[in-house]
Amino acid sequence: MKILSVNAGSSSLKFQAFEMPEEEVLISGVFEKIGLEDSFYTIKFNGEKIRKEVELKNHDKAFKILMDELLEYGVVESLDEIKGIGHRVVQGGSYFDESVIVDDDVLSKIDELSSLAPLHNPAHIVGIKAAMKAAPNAVEAVVFDTAFHQTMAEENYLYALPYEWCDEYKIRKYGAHGTSHKYVSLRMNEILGRYNTKLITCHIGNGASISAVKDGKCINTSMGLTPNAGLIMGSRCGDIDATIVPYMMKKLNLTPEEMDTILNKKSGLLGISGVSSDSRDIEDGIIKGDSRCDLAQKMYVRRIIDYIAKYYVELGGCDAIVFTAGVGENSVHTRREVIDGLSVLGVKIDEEANNVRGVEQLITAPDSTIPCYIIPTNEELMIARDTYRLSANNERDL
Ligand code: AMP
Repeated sequence: MKILSVNAGSSSLKFQAFEMPEEEVLISGVFEKIGLEDSFYTIKFNGEKIRKEVELKNHDKAFKILMDELLEYGVVESLDEIKGIGHRVVQGGSYFDESVIVDDDVLSKIDELSSLAPLHNPAHIVGIKAAMKAAPNAVEAVVFDTAFHQTMAEENYLYALPYEWCDEYKIRKYGAHGTSHKYVSLRMNEILGRYNTKLITCHIGNGASISAVKDGKCINTSMGLTPNAGLIMGSRCGDIDATIVPYMMKKLNLTPEEMDTILNKKSGLLGISGVSSDSRDIEDGIIKGDSRCDLAQKMYVRRIIDYIAKYYVELGGCDAIVFTAGVGENSVHTRREVIDGLSVLGVKIDEEANNVRGVEQLITAPDSTIPCYIIPTNEELMIARDTYRLSANNERDL
């Protein structure tokens, strides 16, 4: 069965087509600068990558080209072969604890939650509607980044704010990166050969979050109402004293929007180093002797260690720690510094095993109390799996 995984942003559309249940990638690519000047798309097929400059007025146009390319490359002979299209949706609120087939009610809930994810949810709706037009016979499914975290207990998702705010204004912790945390925790359990496990999964990319996963269920996660909570990220501050916000707004006469931009786009590694939000640039800065890059990295690593320690206690021990996403999969230094910071728990790195990028690998010594693994994440595959299951069930029900 041919399944398409889609991640629609406000000006982009990433896709990957799979043969399911074999999980074979047939084609992948990304449309960029949709609705802007100089739009283009790239496609990866059979190990080759092509790039085409083309006017992309809107998402409808991108989907139309995508369907034409699927036919052109012979991925399908007819568009009816695409049985399911799965869409990543950033914010599912408390409504969705699993992936669902799209209907009017689902669309209106995603729309209602736009105030919690103003950059993402409206773009997802545009993408879903464009996909419906382009492939009207496919089942449209939505896979929520928040769904995996819906298993958290009230004491972990509530903030110590007026209790009514949760009901009235939906102020609570939803978490993010759930599709990734779910994928790597499932894979980790496969490697361990059992499912009654205590895992700490570290999704450390430009955005970063850590989850505590017990018996396959998330019990806590570091992101909050929005992704700007928990860890220090590329340009987000993560956890801070909330009172800094009104204090600095008054001092600098900032509007809420300006403050929001500073907290999300000018803080984190970028804010401290003054150099870059990219951990590769921070590592280069450290080599050149830049003291603020060094400080930024120290703070970044400290926060990761703090969260691992917190979740170790909350889980009552830990069977494995997983590193994933851009930094987690590729930064040899950050992984080493985090693992060294856990030495009090008896965690010991294997320097040679850790000296790799982007591969699934055990990176701790045989006598390490907790094994640490790199597991490259695969959110697209997770979306395809859920979409396949929902599409196959839907076919059986017809
Ligand atoms: P993601 O958001 O998961 O795509 O991760 C992107 C981030 O991964 C980049 O901004 C970099 O900070 C980081 N990254 C990618 N490759 C490397 C590398 N070789 N070394 C260190 N950091 C890396």
